[in-house]
Amino acid sequence: RIAGVALAGTMVFGVAACGNTTQGEGSDELTSVGISMPTRELERWINDGAQLQELLEDEGFETDLQYAQNDTGTQISQIQNQIASGVDVLVIAAIDGEVLAPVLEQAAEEDITVIAYDRLINGTPNVDYYATFDNYEVGQLQGNFIVEQLDLENTDETFNLEPFAGSPDDNNARFFFSGAWDVLLPYIEDGTLEVPSGNSPASNDQWASIGIQGWESAGAQSEMENRLSSFYTGGEQVDVVLSPNDSLALGIAEALSTSGYTPGEDWPILTGQDADRANVINILDDRQSMTVWKDTRLLGQAVFEMIVALRDGGEPEINDTETYDNGEKVVPTYLIEPEVVTKDTVEEKLVDSEFLSAEDIGL
Ligand code: BGC
Repeated sequence: RIAGVALAGTMVFGVAACGNTTQGEGSDELTSVGISMPTRELERWINDGAQLQELLEDEGFETDLQYAQNDTGTQISQIQNQIASGVDVLVIAAIDGEVLAPVLEQAAEEDITVIAYDRLINGTPNVDYYATFDNYEVGQLQGNFIVEQLDLENTDETFNLEPFAGSPDDNNARFFFSGAWDVLLPYIEDGTLEVPSGNSPASNDQWASIGIQGWESAGAQSEMENRLSSFYTGGEQVDVVLSPNDSLALGIAEALSTSGYTPGEDWPILTGQDADRANVINILDDRQSMTVWKDTRLLGQAVFEMIVALRDGGEPEINDTETYDNGEKVVPTYLIEPEVVTKDTVEEKLVDSEFLSAEDIGL
């Protein structure tokens, strides 16, 4: 793992060309890259795609960037088209990490290098590399934030928690939940935290029971409305909501508003991830407590460096060879550290780094 990676541009990979080529002999053989992104619905994927495409094109690669409207069949046929058009590398942020094995079999037959982007692809030997933020660490940051905010180590009080998890078909969601639950479960077991709705997985591997399909804001909103109207009818207050990402946090915040919670007064602690613009505005308005920021420029840069290393006949830099077992192999991974952003650090972290402009978020 790299601690505190510097911003894009200063990241140095130090890849030495070692003659151990993945792409045959010629150094200019690798020229074209297919990029497959899940959806334009979430701001982060728009930025991810645009940024990687720009880096590659500036370096002279041809690119084909596709978005699949969160539809697995669409993603598979887009990848098939990219294979047919003769790409040398595929960069894929999978919608469903379980269903791409057959199409990647076709990619392997064409000697295409496959890089899993942000989300692991399971059940196939035909994924060569994985680049992501440390997904378990994302959950740990959310869990530790809750522990610190409520001073759970020292308190005699009991707090009401409502936990959520991400889309059951996204391999990352399991890691986010495990990271947070490893921190929070001991406090549930000793009674410091209670889950009035009963949505409290007894172990990490039951996380999907509280997953929100497709990471939909609307799904999170209606789930939160149900919990509030069914389990908080006797004057109970929800004190903290574990939300794995920003799209869920948006829906949860809506549900809190419609149920009468007031920012700055009885609004619960609410976590998130991605530093999406709407959520950063919510953080400034006391409608969300934190977000875990994953500077997508660093991920794009990391994948770009991998592709350049392959083109130059070297091996991409890897810093994790243990964690990401996809059922067929442990996929060599490049992990980047995520970081917490709160109201106090929005300006310093997000605006000063130009991830968002002051104007974007009404500062
Ligand atoms: C990504 C998150 C994102 C979520 C929903 C996850 O796989 O890692 O950053 O919030 O998908 O798109």
